[in-house]
This record gives sequence, C-alpha cells and structure tokens, in this order.
Amino acid sequence: MPTPNPRHPNFPIPGGPELRAKGWRQEALLRLLENVLAVGENPDQLIVYAALGKAARNWQAHAAIVNALKTMDEDQTLIIQSGKPIGLLKTHDKAPLVIMANCNIVGQWAKAKIFYELEKKGLICWGGLTAGAWQYIGSQGVIQGTYEIFMRIAERRFGGSLAGRFILTAGLGGMGGAQPLAGRMAGAAILCIDVDAERARKRQEIGYLEAIAPDLDAALAMIDAAVREKRATSIGLVGNAAEIYPEIVRRGIVPDIVTDQTSAHDLVHGYIPKGMSLAEVKRLRVDGQGQLMAASRASIVDHVRAMLAFQAAGAEVFDNGNLIRTQARDGGVDTAFDIPIFTAAYLRPLFARAIGPFRWMALSGEPADIGRIDDAVLEMFPDNAIVTNWIKLAKQYVPFEGLPARIAWLGHGERTALALKVNDMVRNGELAGPVAFSRDHLDAGAMAHPNIMTENMADGSDAIADWPLLDAMLLCSSQADLVVIHSGGGGYAGYMTSAGVTLVADGTAAADERLNLSLTNDTSLGVMRYADAGYADSLDEIEKKAIPHIRLG
Ligand code: NAD
Repeated sequence: MPTPNPRHPNFPIPGGPELRAKGWRQEALLRLLENVLAVGENPDQLIVYAALGKAARNWQAHAAIVNALKTMDEDQTLIIQSGKPIGLLKTHDKAPLVIMANCNIVGQWAKAKIFYELEKKGLICWGGLTAGAWQYIGSQGVIQGTYEIFMRIAERRFGGSLAGRFILTAGLGGMGGAQPLAGRMAGAAILCIDVDAERARKRQEIGYLEAIAPDLDAALAMIDAAVREKRATSIGLVGNAAEIYPEIVRRGIVPDIVTDQTSAHDLVHGYIPKGMSLAEVKRLRVDGQGQLMAASRASIVDHVRAMLAFQAAGAEVFDNGNLIRTQARDGGVDTAFDIPIFTAAYLRPLFARAIGPFRWMALSGEPADIGRIDDAVLEMFPDNAIVTNWIKLAKQYVPFEGLPARIAWLGHGERTALALKVNDMVRNGELAGPVAFSRDHLDAGAMAHPNIMTENMADGSDAIADWPLLDAMLLCSSQADLVVIHSGGGGYAGYMTSAGVTLVADGTAAADERLNLSLTNDTSLGVMRYADAGYADSLDEIEKKAIPHIRLG
C-alpha cells in the first residue's frame, strides 16, 4: 500500500508487498521512479532537484516508462534516451532491465545555450545526477558528504570540533537543504540563506532546519547566542545571498566556514539575481533568457567577491559543487579559483580508496527495514569509525523522506559485503521486502567533472571522460539492473559526464551474483582510476585488497 505524501498529495510514497510488475526487479525500478517524484522539488513538472533535474522528458514519456516497467519481462531491456523511452528489446535475464543515456551532447555543441534550445524543442532533458536515473532519496543523499566536509575542516582547523563555530551558507533546495542538518550534526551554528520562503519552510517542516529568522539582525543574534553557548543550531533566513553575503562582510563579521549551494550552475532556471522577484524571474525564464543570464552572472560576481572577502579575512571558504566559481570567473572575477573545491580540498583521500556515497532504499516502505540494516552495518564494520559514527548520528537525526533510505560512505569490498548480507536478510524474511542499492554519481570511477570531482588531479587527467564511460560498460557487463550515462545540462552542459547504477536485492541467488559482480567491479574501477593518476592511497588499497590492476611502467 502506498503511504500518503502530505508534501505532494498526488505523489504517494510507494510500499507494501503487492507487485504491479512481473517481478521484483521491475517493481523496484518503478517504485524508485515514483519515489524521486514523491520527494522531488516540483513533481508536477517532473523536476526532482538541481533547478531542472528531471525524472522523465515529459508526462507522455513518463506514462510510457511506467507502462514498460509494469509489462516487461526479465529478459528484456528498456532503452531510455534523455528521459524518453525508445524501445523494449529482447536481451537476457542477466542483462540490465534499463539502460539510459541522459543529456550527452557532442563536445563542441555542449554549451548551455544549445542545451536550452534543444530542451525548448523537447529533444532533451537534464537528469541531474540522480533524478533522471530515479536514484534521488531526498536531501539525505548529500548529507553525509556535507557532514564529512565539515568534520574534515573541524579536524584541520578547529581542534576536531565545530562547537562554537559559525557556518554561513545559502541554498535550501533539493540538495542544499541537507546543509542545515549536516551543520547541526557537526555541532556548529549554521546560517542558511534562501531567496524562496517556500523552500525554507519545506526544510523546516521535514526537520532539517530548526528555525527561520525574521531578518538579518535577528539571524545574526541567534547565531551569536548559539556560538557563545557552543550550542549546535540551524537558522534559515529568507533573502538573496548576493545581497546578504556582502552585507555581512560590510558589518565586519567573519564566519568560521563559508560556502554556498544555490543553483548557481544554471543562470536561467536556477540562480535568482538580486533585486528580482521570483515572479519576475519566472517570466524572464520564458521570454528573457539572455537578460536573466546576464543578471544572474552579475549577482554571482558580487556573491563570490563576498566569499573571497571572507576568505581573505580568515574564513575557511569552499565551493560545494555548484559551479559558482566558474560562473564568477566567466563574469570577470579572476581570483574565483582561489576558493578550493570540496573534493580536492577535503575528500580526495576517501575517493582514492573508492570510499563514497553508497545508499540503500527499503522498497517495502517500512522504516524498520532500514533500522535492521543500520544494526547490520554497525555489526559488520566496527572498526570503520567514519561509518559507525555516521550511522549512529543518522539514526538520531536524519528523518526519512519518501521510501525509507540510508546513505553511508563505504568503500571497496564493504559495499559488496553489505549488499550480500542484505540480500540474505531479504531471503530469510528478516526484512519486510527487497532493498535497492545505488550510489551517487559523484563516486571514484563514475564522474569526470574538471571543476568539481576531478579538479587538479595529480596527473592532470581532470577532463578525461573515459572513466565514467568505462564504468557504465563495466556495470552492464556485471549484470546491474539499471545503468546510466549522464552529462551535464543547463549551466553544467559541457562540464561533466557521469555513470550511475541501481541494483535490486530481491533475495534470489541471481541477485547475489549481480550485487557481487557490479559492486566489486564498480569500486575496483574507482580505485584503479585514482591509482592510474598516481595516488599512493589507491596503490595501497590495490595491494591490500588484491584488486587486479594492470600497472605499466
Ligand atoms: P535546487 O534548485 O533544488 O535549489 C537551489 C536553491 O537555491 C533554491 O532553493 C533557490 O531558491 C536558491 N537560490 C537561488 N538563487 C539564490 C540566491 N541568489 N540567493 C539565495 N538563494 C538562492 O538545487 P539543489 O538540488 O539544492 O542543488 C544546489 C546546487 O548544488 C546545484 O548547483 C547542484 O548541482 C549542486 N549539487 C552539488 C552536490 C555536491 O555533491 N556537492 C550535490 C548535489 C547538487
């Protein structure tokens, strides 16, 4: 039985034992498609997150996908091109059920302007990273990543703790909405600015944001009190970051950590320029895209200049993966890249060992299933401090959105071991239903993005997109249930290529085989990608875990 969804009443949360498809593998993918809309930002428009990241091209395409998933046999493969189903072909029962290519535009043509033209003609859509691949699990999907960044900064600069520290950020959307909770979990006092009151309210309703301040003076007073008492808190403020960041600079206040997660990557459908109402921006999106792009870029210039001023005054400032530095540099801020990217600055040692954001969704809809898997994780990896600490915190703090789900940064061998254990739990009836696994596309072998994931790689291989393409082909060869190749849309056009994968643990022996092959090979490739770039941690991981890497020279 689906669960009512108060946030989006027309998009109930799937669950229960009844199948509408011919098997659990197909049913699982159908539930995941339903789930990304249930937890998405604007499901009426099929938009899941990141301004324009869509679950399907249009409603007609959506209906055809749903129909195919409900009627297809296990020995067929559904082919999806940028959110539109193209065909249902006979393959075999170990082949992926769904393969997708989303938003891949030939190099010289991969520009925001051409993407918008193609999008307007209905020929393409952007799938974000996890929207078009039906893997998004709500703001929780990035929460541990954001938490780990904050903790790395705490270790490096603040004696291991963010108690009594002030984090300033912006963006309370589909992904950015994780920031207030991650900041609070890390023990800090975090101020989050969003221009859209509705978004702030949404994050407060689901328990990610504690309070919304009426104005900047009140917000700063609330933060100041929490800092003095060393009390963790998350405060929202409705306003434009391009105005509020410079105003905080003007007042001479220096936060300890500054970042941003507005949709700065998209100058038309994402970022809101200062001085413009949301209604005005909506109108310009239709008939004034050029004007809107210029206004957004001008605001981003002010926004990033303020971030650079905070950095010069001693704050730890970083780009959290929204292309804000790139947009500012294109607007004339030559020093924008003095701000580091979070991957290279804090998380690369984890990626070098293919430790990254792995996630699982209880297809039964039963929160108790996630509780049982949490217990299994704690039992299986008692010496992995990052994971045990995280699971304990997540149990306490992270509310479920949509299908109950969990994310944890696990690496090579660990992901496979957990998935096989869970498949066993499904088989033994310890869980109320099957479980789906996926991971973020921001994963070791899965993404080329020279301004985010692969910036400043040790060997200069930042822009080489062979790795995600190899990853996708490898996953198809390893019996994964859904495999996807995404490239960037909107402002990300031409900036990235990534691969995604979904696997279904339905308790069968066939699931044991595909989980083992897919997860082991996916992380093997991740470690090998970083070893190829010369990272010592990866070479060490290869030796320790006997990964069959071919090393030349
Ligand atoms: P979203 O479109 O759902 O939300 C963006 C939010 O920014 C909205 O709430 C909007 O009102 C707000 N906003 C826009 N302009 C503003 C301004 N000038 N001042 C204040 N608020 C403003 O997007 P999202 O899914 O939350 O993603 C945010 C960004 O983070 C995107 O660029 C996305 O691609 C990127 N991202 C990074 C990672 C990562 O791994 N670090 C992961 C996912 C997404």
